[in-house]
Amino acid sequence: MPFDAELATQAYMATLRGAARAKSDAYFEGGYWLILWGALAGILADLIILRLGWAAALSARVRRFTGKRWLQSFLFAIPYLLLASLLILPLTIYEDFYRERQYGLLNQDFAAWGGEALLGLAINALVFGLLFMGIHAVLRRWPKGWWVGATAVTVAGLALFITIAPVYVQPLFNDYTPLPEGPVKSAVLSMARANGVPADNVYLVDASRQTDRISANVAGLFGTTRIALNDNLLKQPVDEVRAVMAHELGHYVLNHVWKMLITLTLLAATLFLIISRALPWMLARFGPRWGVTSMDDPAILPVMMIIAAVIGLPMQPITNSIIRTQEIEADRFGLNAARAPDAFATTAMKLSQYRKIEPGPIEEILFFDHPSGHTRVLTAMRWKAEHLGQADVR
Ligand SMILES: [Zn+2]
Repeated sequence: MPFDAELATQAYMATLRGAARAKSDAYFEGGYWLILWGALAGILADLIILRLGWAAALSARVRRFTGKRWLQSFLFAIPYLLLASLLILPLTIYEDFYRERQYGLLNQDFAAWGGEALLGLAINALVFGLLFMGIHAVLRRWPKGWWVGATAVTVAGLALFITIAPVYVQPLFNDYTPLPEGPVKSAVLSMARANGVPADNVYLVDASRQTDRISANVAGLFGTTRIALNDNLLKQPVDEVRAVMAHELGHYVLNHVWKMLITLTLLAATLFLIISRALPWMLARFGPRWGVTSMDDPAILPVMMIIAAVIGLPMQPITNSIIRTQEIEADRFGLNAARAPDAFATTAMKLSQYRKIEPGPIEEILFFDHPSGHTRVLTAMRWKAEHLGQADVR
């Protein structure tokens, strides 16, 4: 019988059946609703903060404390974010702790999870405060065209954050160590050398501290770029590790971080343009009731966040599709570099742990920021069909 990529894909799909497939589908599909509930909860929290006069009161207090405009924005943003996070805390605990435990995806108890969540919140608050400080400064200086400056501030801030995160942020949550000597290391480094990736930039991260998820990633910019595979992946057969790491090398070689920054610039510009048009209208319409009427007032922040949450929902399928397109490119690069289509397909099946294996085509476009298992296995089997009988294909 000749090799048929479609039939081979169906044979892989048939290995995930019954309760295991139902659980995988339920976990991922539940996530669709959580996107909506998350946006609604955020909007509700902002409306509470505005309607009960908390935003106006916080702003008045901050302005009494200092006359420096830039400091007012920073000092408003931090307690605002903490307050908003507190209001949506029940949803956060359900989504990030209870539900993850329920599906066996989290290895931490509540204290360990909560400690990391608090640390994450502290970092978020600092970054969020600095970002709003920059955006609000631009807005006060150029009340008409501020959306252009806000885009520049956001993208520059993002690039800076991506650059320093591997050095200053990620080590706060996990240990990053060089890969241990052995067949995995030599296989990964061999592929790295063959594809022009500096070999001293490959690390092992102890992700099993938090989760059993198999994963690897590329992080950093400029001198801090590095590829990390997690210890859950390292426990898999060497060809599967090679298949995943070849995908990560693809992100590196194809300059995906830079391309993403350029794309995010366009998305951020769209977002801020819409906010710059909607914000004056919102302030004129509801501002008097909220005690927020001037664009100079840092209390416009929750109003901006409401608009961003509303725009964010329809924007999500766009960002998902942009990311998913890069992921497909990395998959194809990885197949060519590792030449292990069955190992790649096997790994794609293992990712059903947290990603629905066989969605409909529209569902995949709307909700998937990585190709589905079905798409990945089919891609691998098509590659295999064109390389049958070649001695180095595993
Ligand atoms: Zn990827």
